[in-house]
Amino acid sequence: MGTQTPHIAIIGGGYTGLTAAYELLKKGYRVTILERQASVGGLAADFTIEGTALEKAYHHLFRTDTDIISLVEELGISDKLEWHESSVAIYYDKQLYPFSGPIDLIKFSPLPLPDRIRTGLLYLFLTNYHNGESFGKTSALHWMKRWAGIAGTKVIWEPLLRGKFHNYAEDISMAWLWARIHTRGQSKAPGELKEKLGYFSGGFTVLTQALKEAVLSHNGEIRNSVNVSAIRKAGSRVAVVINDVSEIFDRVIVTAPSHVFVALTTEHEQMTDSYKEQLLSVPYLGAALHIFSTPQSLSEFYWHNINDLSAPFLVFIQHSNLVGKEKYNNQHVYYLGTYIPHDHKYFTMEDGEIKKLWYSYLKQMFPDFDETHIRESYFFKFKNAQHVVTKGYKERIPAMQTPLDNIYLSNFTQIYPEDRGTNFAVREGKKVAALVDQSFLPKDNPDTNTDQS
Ligand SMILES: Cc1cc2nc3c(=O)[nH]c(=O)nc-3n(C[C@H](O)[C@H](O)[C@H](O)COP(=O)(O)OP(=O)(O)OC[C@H]3O[C@@H](n4cnc5c(N)ncnc54)[C@H](O)[C@@H]3O)c2cc1C
Repeated sequence: MGTQTPHIAIIGGGYTGLTAAYELLKKGYRVTILERQASVGGLAADFTIEGTALEKAYHHLFRTDTDIISLVEELGISDKLEWHESSVAIYYDKQLYPFSGPIDLIKFSPLPLPDRIRTGLLYLFLTNYHNGESFGKTSALHWMKRWAGIAGTKVIWEPLLRGKFHNYAEDISMAWLWARIHTRGQSKAPGELKEKLGYFSGGFTVLTQALKEAVLSHNGEIRNSVNVSAIRKAGSRVAVVINDVSEIFDRVIVTAPSHVFVALTTEHEQMTDSYKEQLLSVPYLGAALHIFSTPQSLSEFYWHNINDLSAPFLVFIQHSNLVGKEKYNNQHVYYLGTYIPHDHKYFTMEDGEIKKLWYSYLKQMFPDFDETHIRESYFFKFKNAQHVVTKGYKERIPAMQTPLDNIYLSNFTQIYPEDRGTNFAVREGKKVAALVDQSFLPKDNPDTNTDQS
């Protein structure tokens, strides 16, 4: 393209922003990613533990994550995506129970046998039922009480929903829960008996860096550690205030959370109260994660749901049980994590205080746990880790094409009924890029594209 090449700004260098940038660059546009953090990757960003990159928030892929798997192929890094047998356990009433399949369920003694059978049938139904959106206006907790029964709900579903969504638990849509169960149930390759989860040899940074390289090699620009403070109308173009300086773009894609979009566009002349209200109607939860390495192996399982509402965290993950410990100096690597509302005490408590609380619970789970063996430990807190999908969510989903001229919104609140994930970030990134591309078609003849090459 010559001097007239349209210039597109993408706010946010997570997987949505990186994918959208890559797609637009392939079509010949000029693209600038504006990222607040010092590195790209967003919620899938990494740090280093035991000399190896690891996600600050635990990540894996399912077999059903076809959009990201195709991107991995396109970027030529398929050999790095490895599939590992998963294992799941539930911690309930001070005991750990394997919970990876039908046999574990049949042996799951916290539930009377008829409730185990009922739960099994329910899993079967939800895995094979395809019209989960029909549950959109139904409360997951109420639906489970009705169909899984009081015991099944109390032991399995209520701790999950209350532990994850706190005060929103009663209102969480059954469509959201259906999608979680349905996707997981479908996530097996032909002939595969046990669930396998995808993880990159070397961590998700392998994909993050490949995407970043793809953007840079197509002459895309990535600006890290920038402060974007406002987006305004500039005639038929868009002004973005970056580090207090206004720069002009032809299109802007915002991949940041919806409330950030509102804050950035509050002075935009086309912003309306009703659109603001729609965007702010979806609450976000934060997440707190503690990661440590130790020579101690605490469990035989990878994933542990903590089905105890008095527990200080929601999941315990022995990451090295999924991927092995060879890459981590032969140490075991663990995550303790939980989702928290924005006013939760973990956002203000010292890390050391949280650690004390969490370790004392971990010691209850695994009496042999000895914190003096810990070699490295880290805390990460995310403010906007998960959106809350309540009843009637579909009607509140904002369109990618906003009412503000030439400004697009693509963030995980638009993913429905599936839960957010890197796969869907890639899918949505592609979608918004296609929409922006289409916006350059001449209005009078939509079949003719302008030559972008
Ligand atoms: C605890 C946890 C576990 C998860 N587990 C998995 C998993 O196992 N598998 C999986 O596939 N997915 C998982 N996910 C979800 C996955 O990480 C996200 O769905 C995905 O990374 C979202 O990408 P995104 O680009 O849409 O958003 P984000 O990653 O949130 O990217 C948005 C970017 O915008 C930037 N930004 C925000 N405001 C501004 C501003 N004003 N100016 C400039 N930049 C700004 C942010 O810094 C960020 O980099 C998990 C997430 C969490 C929190």
